[in-house]
Amino acid sequence: MRFKDEVVMVTGSSRGIGKEIAQAFAEEGAIVMIIDVNAELAEEVKKDFIGRGLKAESFCCDVTNLQNVGEIVTKILDKYKRVDILVNNAGITKDNLLLRMSENDWDAVVNVNLRGPFVCTKAVTKAMMKARKGRIINIASIIGIRGNAGQTNYAATKAGVIGFTKSIARELASRGITANAIAPGYIQTAMTAQLNDNVREELLKQIPLGLLGTAKDVAGACLFLASSEASYITGQTIVVDGGMAI
Ligand code: NAP
Repeated sequence: MRFKDEVVMVTGSSRGIGKEIAQAFAEEGAIVMIIDVNAELAEEVKKDFIGRGLKAESFCCDVTNLQNVGEIVTKILDKYKRVDILVNNAGITKDNLLLRMSENDWDAVVNVNLRGPFVCTKAVTKAMMKARKGRIINIASIIGIRGNAGQTNYAATKAGVIGFTKSIARELASRGITANAIAPGYIQTAMTAQLNDNVREELLKQIPLGLLGTAKDVAGACLFLASSEASYITGQTIVVDGGMAI
C-alpha cells in the first residue's frame, strides 16, 4: 500500500485514463476523489470502487469553474484536512484544420485543457504549501511536443500544460511540492476509438513498440511520479508513447 490514506484528487476520472489513474491510487490505499462533469458516471465509479473495498468520493465538477472547484476543495479539506496529490487529467478534443476551426472550438479546448489545470492547481496550492508536501501531476500529450495537423487548439493547450508544469515546479519547490507532466502518445480510450482503421494502421507504423498504449501505462507513470522514489524529480515531462516521439 504505497499511498495508504493519502488524499488524491483526479479530474476527469469517471472514465478513460482518469478512471484508471484513480483506480491505481485506490488500489494502493489512497482515498480518491472522483472529480468529473458527468455526475452520474462519477457516482457509479465511486460505488464500484467502494463495492470493491476501495476508498473513494465523487464530486460533480467543471474544472473550468473556479468557484465550483474551490467549493469542492473546501469540502475535501474540511473532511480530510489535506490534499496530497492532484492529477489534472480532464481534457477534451475538438479537432479541425485551422482554417475551419471555430472560435468556440478553440476556446472550449483552451478552457478545459489549460484553464482547468490552472484552476484546480490554484485551488489546492495553499493547503499543499501549508503542509509543505504535495504532488501535482498534469496529463499533457505528445501532441503538445510534436504538434499535429488538425489539432492546433489541443496541441497549444498541451504545450501550455508543459510550460505551466515547469513554472509551478519552480514556484513550489521550496515548499516540498513537486510538479510533473505525463505526455501520453496514443492510448486506447474513447478519445482514440474514433480513429478509423486506416489512420490507426498509419499510426501503428509510427510507434516503435508497434501498439497503442493502455490507460494502465499512463497510470503506472502517475504512481511513480507521486511515489517517494520520485521525490527528487520536478518540472519534468515523462513521455509514455511506445517510442513514437523519439
Ligand atoms: P476521455 O475518455 O474523454 O475522459 C475525459 C474525462 O474528462 C471524461 O470523463 C469527461 O467527462 C471529463 N471532462 C471533460 N470536461 C471536463 C470538465 N470541464 N470538468 C471535469 N471533467 C471533464 O479522455 P481520455 O482519453 O481518458 O484522456 C484523459 C487525458 O489524457 C486528457 O487530458 C487527454 O488530453 C490526455 N491524453 C489522452 C490520450 C489518448 O490517447 N486517449 C493521449 C494523450 C493525452 P464527459 O464524459 O462528460 O465528457
